[in-house]
Amino acid sequence: MNAPTVVDSVAALRAQVQDWRRAGLRVAMVPTMGALHDGHISLVRIALEQADRCVVSIFVNPTQFAPTEDLDKYPRQLARDLDRLREAGAHLAFTPSVGEMYPAGFATKISVGGPSSGLETDFRPSFFDGVATVVAKLFLQAAPDFAVFGEKDYQQLCVVRQLCRDLDLPVEIVGAPTVRDAHGLAMSSRNAYLGEAELDVARLLNVILRRTAGALSTGTDEAAATEDAAKALISAGFRKVDYVAARASVTLAPWQRNRGGRLLAAAWLGTTRLIDNVEIPSA
Ligand code: AMP
Repeated sequence: MNAPTVVDSVAALRAQVQDWRRAGLRVAMVPTMGALHDGHISLVRIALEQADRCVVSIFVNPTQFAPTEDLDKYPRQLARDLDRLREAGAHLAFTPSVGEMYPAGFATKISVGGPSSGLETDFRPSFFDGVATVVAKLFLQAAPDFAVFGEKDYQQLCVVRQLCRDLDLPVEIVGAPTVRDAHGLAMSSRNAYLGEAELDVARLLNVILRRTAGALSTGTDEAAATEDAAKALISAGFRKVDYVAARASVTLAPWQRNRGGRLLAAAWLGTTRLIDNVEIPSA
């Protein structure tokens, strides 16, 4: 495979995508923060199944990090990321600087309601404003036909769908299944923060979630099941559980038994915060 072309300006990104679209090619976008792993690469593969050209953005977006969060230590490894994108067959990597995305005087924020409320927002109040603003910018800059987002960040996927619907952004959103290691641990750039002993604990998150989703679908009381899951996470070695919650799959409104559902969780292992989610099977 050829190495992807790398551009770091909005003008160069726009010019390339416009050329492709004028030539009648279908263009996909995969927004990422880099430190690419097999989960990200699966999104590129899905994109290339349905598109002629794939743009991957690599941008650690400061506006979605709170001052106390890991912006400075977030892994950055561009050369390795570009190798992985070449292997996967991506055509263009957009690697803007913070100044290119947020020039001096930048003063706009997009705030999505609906699926943004609760869950992550209870613990990271401005997170989805940062995500919605950068995703809207990327879509307006690149103007792709569609974009692929992972179910790993399930609430984010719902928020991005809502954003596109509400603002009539002409970008179709494709959701992609979570890629996991052999133990079921969802791949995440933040797994790089974990030592071996912590990884053993992290691998129990999906096990506990799947068990709890199964219990919910066979009639266990919701409050009891989610409380038990939180206790099981603490017993397994997690330091703190932000939430374990059952929600409706599309709106993220409270879950109604016998309807499609999603069980979502966020928990801390030492100083690393992990999130995961699983489907609640219908009974
Ligand atoms: P990030 O670089 O963490 O912002 O993630 C970029 C995109 O990759 C998002 O759409 C994520 O949901 C997706 N992603 C991250 N981890 C995984 C995974 N394990 N499986 C599938 N998609 C993922």
